[in-house]
Amino acid sequence: MFPIIDGHTDYVLSLLETGRDFLVESATGHVDLPRAKRGGIAAMLTAVFVRDEHLPEQALVRTLRAVDRLVQTITASDGAMELVTDVEQLRRCLEGGRFGAILHFEGAEAIDPELRVLRLAHRLGLGWLGLSWSRPNIFAEGVGPQDRGRGLTALGRELVRACNELGILIDVSHLNDAGFWDVLECSTVPVVASHSNCRVLCPVARNLADDQIRALAAKGGLVGINFHVGFLRVGAERPDDASLADVIAHIDHIVGLVGVDHVAFGSDFDGATMPRDLSDASRMPYLVEALLRHGYDEAAVRKICSENWLRVFRAVW
Ligand SMILES: [Zn+2]
Repeated sequence: MFPIIDGHTDYVLSLLETGRDFLVESATGHVDLPRAKRGGIAAMLTAVFVRDEHLPEQALVRTLRAVDRLVQTITASDGAMELVTDVEQLRRCLEGGRFGAILHFEGAEAIDPELRVLRLAHRLGLGWLGLSWSRPNIFAEGVGPQDRGRGLTALGRELVRACNELGILIDVSHLNDAGFWDVLECSTVPVVASHSNCRVLCPVARNLADDQIRALAAKGGLVGINFHVGFLRVGAERPDDASLADVIAHIDHIVGLVGVDHVAFGSDFDGATMPRDLSDASRMPYLVEALLRHGYDEAAVRKICSENWLRVFRAVW
């Protein structure tokens, strides 16, 4: 009844590192196809991430290995999954068709200064790009210990323009604050924070200040709520330290600031520590039910579950 687009998952890296099969239900990790389906998830933004120890030399080959793993998984699914690159496809996923994977690079380390890799990656199906993970590169600086407070480089601005032209969605979730404001100024289309929460409720650098949330909304973008316990509650480290109620508190805050059109889900499944009562993808219906019980009407829940993501992709792709 409320098909879900999940705006951030790290399952590809988990498949590469653990050897598990996405198509088979597993006792480890947070998501695989059977659990995603049971959770009502119709499509996932599927991150490709390169670990520090492989930078910079292996960034491209590690990225391509992950893309290959995703492509192989889709092929092996025998029609149960597809790589989503346009809005019509995404709509069909939501209407009960195949399970959609939207290819995302979480950090632009694999991309060269001439942006040739960007253009090729777009041909491979790249729909969505984070300029930086929580570390500096030739385009931008991330949040985290290495943040020197600088904004986008000249190349970073070029990358934003190129993404706008190609129709690649820009994600600001791991950017530092200066980079965030540069992207907002530079991009001509909506941008998203795919997996970040509210700084006022949980003051960590990965979360957004109220003026940042207002700016994203004013540009037509959205915030995907991250279920990581440490971004829901300051100091939280274990599954018992935060709950589904905290997820709703962050949603409430964004809705109070900018309305229900600018909030969605970006779980961070397979990339973070989930609250006990939201321990894997199969538990998403509990969250949907809790939103309804909390007083959101069906139209609002549908927006949070999928329609807000759909609107952003329609504007950007
Ligand atoms: Zn992330």
